[in-house]
Amino acid sequence: MDAGYDVVIVGGGVMGSSAAYFLAASDVFDGSILVVERDSTYDTSATARSMGGIRQQFTTEENIAMSMFGAEFARIAPEVLAVDGERVEVTFREQGYLSTATAAGADRLRQNFEMQRSQGAAVTFLEAGDLALRFPWLNPDGLGAAVFGHANEGWIDPNTLLQGFRRKAISLGATFTDDEVVGFTREGDRLAGVQLARGGEVAAGTVVLSAGSRSGALAALMGVDLPVRPRKRYVYVFDCKEDLSGLPLTIDPSGVAFRPEGRQFVTSMSPPEDQDPDSDAEDMEVDYTTFEAVTWPVLANRVPAFEAIKLTGAWAGHYDFNSFDQNAILGGHPEIANLLFCTGFSGHGLQQSPAAGRAISELIVHGAYRAIDLTRFGFERIALGHAVVEANVW
Ligand SMILES: Cc1cc2nc3c(=O)[nH]c(=O)nc-3n(C[C@H](O)[C@H](O)[C@H](O)COP(=O)(O)OP(=O)(O)OC[C@H]3O[C@@H](n4cnc5c(N)ncnc54)[C@H](O)[C@@H]3O)c2cc1C
Repeated sequence: MDAGYDVVIVGGGVMGSSAAYFLAASDVFDGSILVVERDSTYDTSATARSMGGIRQQFTTEENIAMSMFGAEFARIAPEVLAVDGERVEVTFREQGYLSTATAAGADRLRQNFEMQRSQGAAVTFLEAGDLALRFPWLNPDGLGAAVFGHANEGWIDPNTLLQGFRRKAISLGATFTDDEVVGFTREGDRLAGVQLARGGEVAAGTVVLSAGSRSGALAALMGVDLPVRPRKRYVYVFDCKEDLSGLPLTIDPSGVAFRPEGRQFVTSMSPPEDQDPDSDAEDMEVDYTTFEAVTWPVLANRVPAFEAIKLTGAWAGHYDFNSFDQNAILGGHPEIANLLFCTGFSGHGLQQSPAAGRAISELIVHGAYRAIDLTRFGFERIALGHAVVEANVW
């Protein structure tokens, strides 16, 4: 086996790179870090294909706390991730999230709002009658209420955050290698090392599994059943003649979400669960019929200016989908002492990457969570059937 590293991180997307950064930046940790990334162009990674949204509007304390740290980090990232004085412009557009509900969903929205407020989230509840005045571009027909995040919400450039973590981690001593992990060597209750496609094996003190949508397939190589698989999503880009570039990220009760992207807009929605199977396919083909048949009619109804829009582009991406409860799977495995998971974030991983990377570094350095207690996101909840019930996942 080749010379080893104290920590080997499998997958160098935003999660693996964040974990490498927080570990390398720790005053307490002085071990060696290797990140193995099979495609450093990141072309098909979830991170590169993300919409970059950050919101406090979750219904579990942990998700709210993680995303609030994500917003805080987005503000300081230009300085803290700078290398040789070059700032990392993640361009946090703090234009808010506007979550809308029908009259039938208004009570639930209010309960969620009260819970979010109790956790310190900067959110405002809006009655149906307030909406037209506050958001003149919005058609309030069929809406019963909305919640607007007036701070800590908006979107950033995902790839810049990923590259910022990666470059800063390297500047602090972490090593990134272009290779693919194809197997794991197990010795008793430990992983002795990881096997690489280019040949050879690297010994590992601790292994962090942060391979995004491929995490389930890699865990299977260790004999571990991890419910994380790719699920395909589409993002459509369109032009609108009116200048609505100040809009918040808006979510229609149908699940269609849209936000400005410069002078253009991007929109996406997750399909209903019964039309959304797990898949091992990783193709990037775009289905344009969904835009015409489902998305555009919703957009045109909710924003009258969107009746005359022009589709200018689209991309597909794969969620790192946790089919158990669509939340992070973080921390150790009960039978493999030196394995840590950092995966399964489904549609909300980008914003949680600073908190997740920090949490992994805390587990390695201190053996316990310090800043946010994320014990409930542990792997053991799956075998126990203890789902973390988060209503605001899509
Ligand atoms: C269309 C879309 C929109 C999204 N919108 C949002 C949003 O608005 N807000 C938000 O917070 N989140 C969003 N997400 C989710 C977010 O992008 C992901 O949760 C997050 O990027 C996951 O990061 P990751 O590092 O785990 O995975 P990835 O970015 O996929 O990185 C995993 C890396 O592991 C590497 N890898 C895989 N297998 C191996 C191997 N065997 N050996 C070595 N390397 C390997 C891959 O090459 C990849 O680079 C969205 C996702 C998609 C697809």
